Amino acid sequence: MTKHLFVTGGVVSSLGKGLTSASVGMLLEQRGLTVRMQKLDPYINVDPGTMSPYQHGEVYVLDDGSETDLDLGHYERFTNSPLTRDSNYTTGQIYQSVINKERRGEFLGKTVQVIPHITNEIKSVIHKLADESVDVVITEIGGTVGDIESLPYLEAIRQFSNDVGKGNCLYLHLTLVPYLKAARELKTKPTQHSVGQLREIGIQPDILVCRTEQPMSREECEKISLFCNLELEAVIEERDKDFSIYEVPLSLYEHRLDALVCQKLGLQTQEPDLDMWRDLLQRLRNPKHEVSIAVVGKYADHRDAYKSIYEALDHAGMANTTQIRLARIRSEDVESKGPERLLAGFDGILVPGGFGERGIEGKVATVRYAREKGIPFFGICLGMQCAVVEFARNVCDLKDAHSTEFDKETNNPVICMLDEQQSITDKGGTMRLGAQPAKLAEGSHAAECYATTEVSERHRHRFEVNNVYRQQLEAHGLQITGTSPDGSLVEIIELPDHRWFVAVQYHPEFKSKPTSAHPLFKGFVDAAIGHHKAKHGKSAADADSSCSPITH
Ligand code: GLN
Repeated sequence: MTKHLFVTGGVVSSLGKGLTSASVGMLLEQRGLTVRMQKLDPYINVDPGTMSPYQHGEVYVLDDGSETDLDLGHYERFTNSPLTRDSNYTTGQIYQSVINKERRGEFLGKTVQVIPHITNEIKSVIHKLADESVDVVITEIGGTVGDIESLPYLEAIRQFSNDVGKGNCLYLHLTLVPYLKAARELKTKPTQHSVGQLREIGIQPDILVCRTEQPMSREECEKISLFCNLELEAVIEERDKDFSIYEVPLSLYEHRLDALVCQKLGLQTQEPDLDMWRDLLQRLRNPKHEVSIAVVGKYADHRDAYKSIYEALDHAGMANTTQIRLARIRSEDVESKGPERLLAGFDGILVPGGFGERGIEGKVATVRYAREKGIPFFGICLGMQCAVVEFARNVCDLKDAHSTEFDKETNNPVICMLDEQQSITDKGGTMRLGAQPAKLAEGSHAAECYATTEVSERHRHRFEVNNVYRQQLEAHGLQITGTSPDGSLVEIIELPDHRWFVAVQYHPEFKSKPTSAHPLFKGFVDAAIGHHKAKHGKSAADADSSCSPITH
């Protein structure tokens, strides 16, 4: 029978429930178990696809085209759990489904209520993942215990253990144990209150994972154990990891979290094999090279807006035993201050995806700078579209070339809307979304990196390269090295005379893992190392110091 692990969070938001859940998932998989990961988000939006990156961070896209919470990115990077639209539900979807059933008359005249109709719907989406082949479903409940929106979810997971039997369910609660400088003490009261709130609802957590800046003493753990009614060994410290998020699973392993989960769920397993993860961290700790990469985007001041890009750069760094010094630069600043002031000295420049006009000219100026100065350049989605606009304007001499997303009246719409998009008015879930195949040109940088000419990558866009301009762009030296299998959509462009200038219409960052860096990110970082060495001679130790190492 499939076992269920529910992960809730208390005291404050942004505690890293996603990372903790993903880490537990990884440890259980390394113990030989088959795991499925799921996130239930209490907000009312149907999905995060229409939410601002400032509000919600990155929208993470799955193979099946669902636009999901960024925690699913952690799940994919840490585990092998296949993710589909069943892996992320929101209150909007739960209600939509219940209301549709009501309209179809499925409730036979009954009054439709939060309990049992909404809670039953929540339980049914959890059950969906529990087929015979699955040992453990890990379901993370978004938000913080005490939020009004969370209540139906907590009620549903409370009922769940009665439905499937207490021994088949486990509740893991993540809390904060803050350090008060003035008192020089860790404070356990917020944790006690948060567990108190859970118990009011009828959930006694089985395991408490405590986020803390400082090590917790035995006394503090004993106090929490006593007041929160848990065994001492079930109070687990999760200290902040400044160095890398990939330390989290190893640290939870050292605190025996995975062993405890298995013991409490009655799962007989082997010790996890963590050699590969230890090796990754080893490489991260002992880099042989150092390169500086500028990510120039609209939301560069928001840490989560390009989450998967930063992670993918990190993976490429690990694969190349290279420390990535990352600078997040706002494209608006490039617009106002000029590229020379902000971008000189970088070993690589990446322009990520995005929507909306703000900062667009800064992105175009960034591409021009990278192209003219021979700095390795990687454009992703909107970054690729900006590269085409820049090339059209400054190489093909089409001075007013633009994307119709930003200038509907341009005489040279080198980027225009996909045909299938023309008549769509709804914003949610209506872009070209999800995994699609592409074929690559033999001998291109892209084909070299992938070591194949057939790939599948995830998309999330409405606009594309206008085929009317393809010949003109190519005649001036831009190479189209990847297209959709029928050749009708441009997927990759390259500049052959440049050290590494590759831009893609899709989002490769969603498929990068710490254990297998994405080939294009790896190739980009390789090129940045080469550029760095060419600039500085053989020694790579003196990279630009104006930017900081990646931290998440
Ligand atoms: N705004 C562009 C489009 O819709 C690019 C999207 C993106 O970068 N994800 O085509």
